[in-house]
This record gives sequence, structure tokens and C-alpha cells, in this order.
Amino acid sequence: MIYDHILVRYGELTLKGGNRKTFVSQLRSNVKRALMPLKGYEVKANRDRMYIQLTPEADIEEMMTRISKVFGVHSISPVLKLEKSMEAVYDHARLFAQDYAAGDSFKIEVKRSDKTFEYETFAIQRMVGGEVLKSNESLHVDVRQPDHEIKVEVRLDAIYMYDRIVPAIGGLPVGTGGKTLLMLSGGIDSPVAGMEVMRRGVTIEAIHFHSPPFTSEKAKEKVIELTRIMAERVGSIRLHIVPFTEVQKQIHKVVHERYTMTSTRRMMLRIADKVVHQIGADAIVNGENLGQVASQTLKSMYAINAVTNTPILRPLLSLDKEEIVKKAKDIGTFETSIQPYEDCCTIFTPKNPVTEPQFEKVLQYESGFDFEEMIDRAVANIETMVIDKNYQLHQDEQNAWDDDLF
Ligand code: ATP
Ligand code: MG
Repeated sequence: MIYDHILVRYGELTLKGGNRKTFVSQLRSNVKRALMPLKGYEVKANRDRMYIQLTPEADIEEMMTRISKVFGVHSISPVLKLEKSMEAVYDHARLFAQDYAAGDSFKIEVKRSDKTFEYETFAIQRMVGGEVLKSNESLHVDVRQPDHEIKVEVRLDAIYMYDRIVPAIGGLPVGTGGKTLLMLSGGIDSPVAGMEVMRRGVTIEAIHFHSPPFTSEKAKEKVIELTRIMAERVGSIRLHIVPFTEVQKQIHKVVHERYTMTSTRRMMLRIADKVVHQIGADAIVNGENLGQVASQTLKSMYAINAVTNTPILRPLLSLDKEEIVKKAKDIGTFETSIQPYEDCCTIFTPKNPVTEPQFEKVLQYESGFDFEEMIDRAVANIETMVIDKNYQLHQDEQNAWDDDLF
């Protein structure tokens, strides 16, 4: 079957008026971004659905795979756009039916929004069904649970036909929900946390704390690869790599060993908070999960969180590890996350970190040194890159989000 369009259905865009317009236009540019650099298509979006017009050179399966990963897309179908004649419908219904296995059941489902079309819904259903049965006698009609459903939409401009609906990722179009900064380690959890907020329409930039020579180039490459996988959903993501060695060494000089983990997290958060303001984000996202490890008790979260008023989103807070692993596998980050390169935190992790840090003690230890200047230096030396889904690294291109780049 030679399809000439892909029909894209929107997810939960129950919004009205101007909001809807913003969502649709964002979704349209996200779909275009996901299709780059493929050739042979034109995207046309209206308030209810999107059509991607194809030329013969288009790779339709690759395009469908990519579009199904774009947040805000509910489902997609390869479709035929036909002239408004019953003959055209018959011909193509027969072509669909050719591929059905002997003994299969089918149903013709007609939607007729052009009320001036010469035949009515029920008549079209009956006539097309009759033609299909004539062309392939091994089939039978089942209106309740058919193996195949041939959809015929009689609209003002044309008749659209399809028999396949492919579920897509759903959620809301990224770019409609503000911006956050994702704290991205090399582990399993943080990429999943990032994807969870992206699913709600939120744009992310990522920040990673790197402590050379204690952490290697390989560890950094792993984080770049995780960012690239996340960027498949949105085209590109900015990644900020923070040189963290100096701060970490200083923490180990002044803070009691059992409290170094708590202070390390606090310093990371202080740095992240400065970046949040620089990039105009409104929240920080991390992969914390209640009770998973020592640093993730409520007491510990309290002590860490105290350095900022910026909202911290923890989308994985209450999930079980198995659920997180399943999500990581679904989004394609799991295999990269389990590669054994050291993280700055694991290297400096004390043997016996305090699980319920006393807030007063944290403050007391940290008062032994004024970290502010060191934190500013770390921020000033951040290496920022834009990572796009096709492995191209750009040095900090502010305009990576502008459409004219594509
Ligand atoms: P993950 O699987 O995401 O590494 P985790 O279960 O190992 O999480 P922790 O190591 O306690 O938990 O880290 C908690 C969160 O702190 C991470 O999910 C991440 O958001 C943030 N984080 C930890 N290390 C770093 C790092 N080196 N750079 C950036 N963020 C980090
Ligand atoms: Mg970790």
C-alpha cells in the first residue's frame, strides 16, 4: 500500500482558544524537529489533528517511529487521501483487504463530516463492506470485535482511509510547560525523572557534576549519551557540566566524614540554583526516591533542600525500583545507565554516611569554610554544550531551539 499521509492525533489537548493554538503550534515544531533530517514530507497542523503529507521518497516507518515518541502525540495512522468518489474508496478498500489473512473478520467504520456527500454513512458502510467481501470471500464481517477496521472519513476536502492506529507516547508538547534544570547523574533514575517532566510539556536543560581526575572522561561521555537519548524526544538538550573537584575536596577538609554526602548534595544544589537563575528556569528536577538510599530519607531531603527556595521536582519519589527500571528500559536509557563508570558521589561516598542528618550539625560543619567563592568559580567554569539527537555536539548555541536551525 502506498500511503500519502500520516495522520497525527493529539493527546489530552482539551484546551480551548489561544492555549490550544500555542499547544498545536509547539507540537507542530516538535514533530518537525523529530523528523529532521529526513526528507520527503510537509507538516500541516490544524486545531484538531495534523497531517504529514508524504512524497514517494519518504521513509514512512522511520517517520512513524519518530513521531510516536513526540510528547503530545496520542496516536498515528498511515492514511490515504482519496478523491471523493465511491470507486476510489472501493479500489483502496480492496487493496487493504488483500493483506488480511483467510478467515479474518473486518468492519467498515465511516465518519461523514461532509453532509453534502451523495451517500449517507450507513449506505457507504454497506456498499464498501459488500465490495470487500466480493473481492476476498474468505473474510467475514464482525462489527463487535473485528480483526481489521477499515476507517473511511468523508471530509470536506477529501476522503481519508486507513486501517492502522499506532499508539504514541501521549503527554503534553514539550515547550508548553516552562523550563526546569535536571540534575543528571550517570545512574538509572535521573534520566527517567527528566523524561517524566518532559512528558508534562516541560523543557529541560541538564546539569552534571564532574570531578576529574576522580571521575573519568568515560563517565562524562556516558552522561552525554544519556542526554542524547533524551534529546530524541525533543531534538536537542543543553547540558551543563560543572567542574566539581575543588568543592568536593574542600567538603572533605571541613565536614565530618559521615556528613560529607549531605554537604555534597547541598553544594550541588547551591550550584544548580545559580544555573536555574542564569537560564531562566523555574524548578530543579532530580531522581530522588524516598527511602532508597541513605541520602534519600526525609531528614536528609530536609537538610539538603534548605539551601534553596526553588521548587524541587522529584517525579520518582514514590516509585518502586522495578518500575523505574522498566521506564528506563522503555525510554532506552537503561543500557547506558548501567555501564560501570564512576560517579563523583560514589567515589567520595563515606563508608557509613549519616542517614538522618541533624540540620544544626550540617550548618556547623559547613561554617568552617566560606564556600560561596568556590561555588561561583565552579559556575563560572561550567562547560555548556547543546546535544542533539543525531550525535552532533554544538558548543553552547543559544539558538539551538530556534526553528530556523532546522
Ligand atoms: P541516579 O540513578 O539518578 O544516579 P540514585 O538512585 O543513584 O539516582 P543518588 O546517587 O542519591 O541516587 O542521587 C540522587 C539524585 O541526585 C540523582 O537522581 C540526581 O538527580 C542527583 N545527582 C547525583 N549525582 C549527580 C551528579 N554527579 N550530577 C548531577 N546530579 C546528580
Ligand atoms: Mg546515582
